[in-house]
Amino acid sequence: MPRTVTGPEIERLIQLLAKLPGLGPRSARRAALHLVKKKEQLLEPLAAAMDVAAETIVVCSTCGNIDTTDPCTICADPRRDQATLVVVEDVADLWALERAGALSARYHVLGGALSPLDGVGPDDLSIGRLVARVAAGGIAEVILAVNATVEGQTTAHFITDRLAGLGVRVTRLAHGVPVGGELDYLDEGTLFEAIRKRTPF
Ligand SMILES: [Zn+2]
Repeated sequence: MPRTVTGPEIERLIQLLAKLPGLGPRSARRAALHLVKKKEQLLEPLAAAMDVAAETIVVCSTCGNIDTTDPCTICADPRRDQATLVVVEDVADLWALERAGALSARYHVLGGALSPLDGVGPDDLSIGRLVARVAAGGIAEVILAVNATVEGQTTAHFITDRLAGLGVRVTRLAHGVPVGGELDYLDEGTLFEAIRKRTPF
């Protein structure tokens, strides 16, 4: 049992920071120390920004994106192509595609991928809502921008089956997305090419 060197308030800060992706206990400790040292320049503005974010963030009831308005900024933007829907596993993938700037469409966030081994079935994802959105009409193409993992591809096949007969073109990202590749980790050029050269599913 390591000795405690700080009071419980700072320990709590370290423990919470250690839950962030990419931060282990050691880097969380370093980040906490940095925040505490830069109280006025960093700790206080960060705490205030987090407070505001916690108060205002909502999940878009149309697409599942995270924003401060519902519908989200993307769904509410009339300049976006209303006939193309990009299906992603996670909000991080939506943000990655937006950074790549390959197209100006709307999205549908599934909330994960099918994974029978982990107990993730169709009802755990927003597949039913996706089918309902497409069935409501006005959508000509659904781009399955899922990860190139077994789970992602299983999900893509499942969705393609569910969309059959609804009269939409279903496409997927071009090769160039490495097998096992998660979109959020791809560089923007690769993502841009993958979406531009998408192929029929
Ligand atoms: Zn939205």
